[in-house]
Amino acid sequence: MAGSIHLQQTKENQSGQLKHLELLKTLALKSGADDATIIYASDVIVDPRVRFKCMIPKCYMSGNCHHCPPYGYSIKEVRAIVAQYEWAVFFRKKVNSSIIAAKNIHEAIDSGIMDDKGNAINLGGHYILVFTIAKLLQKKAREMGHDLTHGFAAGNCRDPFCHLQPTCQNLITDKGCRHPELSSFSMESSGMDVYKMAARAGWDQFPIGGMCEPDSVPQGSLMGLVLIN
Ligand code: SF4
Repeated sequence: MAGSIHLQQTKENQSGQLKHLELLKTLALKSGADDATIIYASDVIVDPRVRFKCMIPKCYMSGNCHHCPPYGYSIKEVRAIVAQYEWAVFFRKKVNSSIIAAKNIHEAIDSGIMDDKGNAINLGGHYILVFTIAKLLQKKAREMGHDLTHGFAAGNCRDPFCHLQPTCQNLITDKGCRHPELSSFSMESSGMDVYKMAARAGWDQFPIGGMCEPDSVPQGSLMGLVLIN
């Protein structure tokens, strides 16, 4: 008898949890994500080569932002964090290739002088949206009783949030991050193989390098993930 009561409670807990996960997925979509899916945390792919890709060859932000390699979680820490969770909501925001692969967009970002077409600002807005969705899902999950969520966004946080600042405050002072309510580590800086995870979710995505022309890729994608306890 005690065993069947326990089984009943387990089933009710699971169905309550799945309901919450569906609500979080819907929230991601309503908030601007183009796709969102519920995955097992065990399906988060962590590969040290992804994190090393930020450093070799060195990305311009590597070493310049507290949330980018070589700073941030080690692969061992990411694996330990992911192992504590059962579920995750994985989402993506598509970015038009005319924006993300725009000619000279890297010069605009590097120099801080925005391009006339507004592509750099527009791209920054897409990144901010991904950071915001991750934080929104964490907040909603906490309200539903999942108090130990962990969120990951896309790219570095310095370009979208501290672009006009000379340095990352979190890196060179003990004052901490200027935007703790929005900023977080990215999936890729934490060694998560975002491309492979997107492919498994059935999402078409295209790597975009510095030499990429808008006509050579249909679109870009920025992805985020929230682990739910
Ligand atoms: S938001 Fe700004 S201060 Fe915070 S970690 Fe990113 S670059 Fe540093």
